Amino acid sequence: MPEGDTIFRTARALGRALTAKAVTGFRSTYPLLTRFNDDTPLIGQTVESVDSRGKWLLIQFSGGGMLVTHMLMSGSWHIYRHGERWQRPRNHMRILLENSDYVAVGFSVPVAKMMRAHELARALRIPPAAIDVLSAEFDAGEATRRVQAHGGEEVGDVLLHQEAIAGVGNVFKSEICFVTATNPFCKVADLDSERVAFLVATSRRLVKANVLEDSGETMVTYGGMHRRTTGRIDPGERVWVYGRGDEPCRKCGEPIRRQLQGPDARVTFWCPKCQKS
Ligand SMILES: [Zn+2]
Repeated sequence: MPEGDTIFRTARALGRALTAKAVTGFRSTYPLLTRFNDDTPLIGQTVESVDSRGKWLLIQFSGGGMLVTHMLMSGSWHIYRHGERWQRPRNHMRILLENSDYVAVGFSVPVAKMMRAHELARALRIPPAAIDVLSAEFDAGEATRRVQAHGGEEVGDVLLHQEAIAGVGNVFKSEICFVTATNPFCKVADLDSERVAFLVATSRRLVKANVLEDSGETMVTYGGMHRRTTGRIDPGERVWVYGRGDEPCRKCGEPIRRQLQGPDARVTFWCPKCQKS
C-alpha cells in the first residue's frame, strides 16, 4: 500500500498541474462519478486545491464537489502533457481530468467518490489534519494522546491506525520502532508518555524526510520511489530493518527478525537486541 509520503508527493504534483486551472475534460469508468458530472458538470469548474490526508487524496472543485480517492495497493495518478504517451494501458484508466496544460489520469484507482466537503470526515473517517504527520497543522500532543488511547494494543499495530496517527505505513512502522529502540510487540500502555511522544516525533521526522526532495517530475508513479530512513546514500543501506529478515542488524550485528503482526497480519521487522522494550 502506498504510504503517506507517497500520497503527499502525488498530491503535490497533482496540485501543481491542476490547481487554479479550469477543467477542460473529465471522464471516468465509475458510474457514480459520471452521474455526479452529469448533474454538476466539472468542465468549466476550477480545481481549488489538491490535498492528501493520511492515505486519501482530495481534489476540491469550485462547484463544491470533492473528488476523493484512495489508492489501496494498485492505484496511481500520472500527469501527462497533451499527446504524451501513457505509461500504463488505457483500459486501466478509471478517472481522467484535463486542463489546458495537462492530463491527469487515475489508473486502477480502486476507491473513488464525489462528495461535499461536509460529508467527508464522517463518511470516510478521513483523519483530521492535526494527526497527519505530513500536515502543517500536525499537533504532536494530539497524536500522542490518540496513540495512548490504544494502550492495550501493540505499538506496531497502533502506528498503522489512521485515526491515531495518519500517514505512517508498514515500511515506516518497522523503521520508527527501530530508530526509537522500541519493541514493536510491546503494548503502548507499557511505554511512558515521553517514549510515546518520541515515537510520534520520530514518525513525523522520518516520513517528512522522504518528501523533502522534490524532483519536479511531470509524472508520478508509486514504483519509482526509494524510501530512506538511515540517511545513507548507498542503495543497499537505505533502511534499518524493513525487508532485512535474517540479515545482521546495522547497529549490533544480531539477525533481524521478521514476524506477522496484528489482526491484519502485517509484516514487522525488528532487532531483538536493540529493541528490547
Ligand atoms: Zn541490533
